[in-house]
Amino acid sequence: MSDLHKETLAIRAQSERSSNREHAVPVYMTSSFMFEDAEQARAMFADEIKGNIYTRFSNPNSNEFVEKMCLLEGAEDGIATASGMAGVFVSLAGILKQGDHLVASRAVFGSTHQVITMLLPRWGITYTYVDPADPDSWEKAIRPETKMIFAETPSNPGLDMIDLEFLGKLSKKHNILLNIDNCFATPYAQLPIKYGADIVSHSATKYIDGQGRAIGGIIVGRADVIKELRFFARHSGPALSPFNAWLFSKSLETLAIRMEKHVSNAFKLATWLEDTQMKHLESVKYPWLKSYPQYELAQKQMSSGGGMVCFTVKGGLERGQRFLNNLTMCSLTANLGDSRTIATHPASTTHSKLSKEDRLAVSITDGLIRISVGLEHIDDIIADIKQALETSA
Ligand SMILES: *Cc1c(COP(=O)(O)O)cnc(C)c1O
Repeated sequence: MSDLHKETLAIRAQSERSSNREHAVPVYMTSSFMFEDAEQARAMFADEIKGNIYTRFSNPNSNEFVEKMCLLEGAEDGIATASGMAGVFVSLAGILKQGDHLVASRAVFGSTHQVITMLLPRWGITYTYVDPADPDSWEKAIRPETKMIFAETPSNPGLDMIDLEFLGKLSKKHNILLNIDNCFATPYAQLPIKYGADIVSHSATKYIDGQGRAIGGIIVGRADVIKELRFFARHSGPALSPFNAWLFSKSLETLAIRMEKHVSNAFKLATWLEDTQMKHLESVKYPWLKSYPQYELAQKQMSSGGGMVCFTVKGGLERGQRFLNNLTMCSLTANLGDSRTIATHPASTTHSKLSKEDRLAVSITDGLIRISVGLEHIDDIIADIKQALETSA
């Protein structure tokens, strides 16, 4: 099956089928599965034969979702989780133990930051934050007890990028695991495993669902690493519900065409902002713009610029808030990767608890606006942003 194209695999991959000959995959709303006899029950629990036992361990819907994501990411195995954060947490806590050390990019998702700085230290796991833009600092941060490198690229919300080839080589050289949050790029724009990542995580809530309906996540990667993580997940219980797994699996069928449109709308918006709106803006950031600080790297490791555009309005915090208030179509909500265009102002919301210096260290200026570019007609997206820029001036 894996010689087929990704777009086809996302639609056709499904090795587990019921005997009812249904065409669309049904939702398997069942907590447990029946054994043929006592011997089969024994063998399944002993891991001698594969099969679904209990939906906390596996379910045909989560299996299908995992199977497709493994094919898209080029991974050997995976685990579906109840949220993106459940996946990130399992990928860290399922391996790291007391005395271990983690090297992590400073530019990580807000809740990931809380896990690294507030939760893992409770269990004696230490960390060193490194600057995504300063590769030399990464090797200097590695200690004998370092077990893992964690990074997000491009980062949320600052769109900072880290060289995956460099990280892959660094982790191999020091024999430590490389764990990448690939949520922003999706497997259609970036394949971290190709560069040596051992674990890749996604918030399925974002582009994978793509329509803002459900919370979920997934981790995929090397079989032996996933096996260790599965032990942790199976017994700590962050399983994805069959219904959400069904939804995400179905959504994967349209991920490729949705991403094409997200990307073309995002590129058009970024180009329009840079070409015509600089009287209102300090800067525009989009990986496929020539002015993007890491343009060469973006061209090397990503196959598109993705669907997120950032810009900094002149006039700082107040102008940023005025801009949001003046939008008439774009949604003010905390999600991203939705068919609806979403605008957020990180300095007054998600990152308001950080000091201004800490915000700047992860590229969050006071006037930074993050746009998750949706699937509406690009002229309507541009018209709304144009009038909000003008009326907030
Ligand atoms: C949203 C997000 C997460 C967390 O995912 P949830 O599904 O909200 O738990 C993790 N990483 C990134 C980059 C995200 O955008």
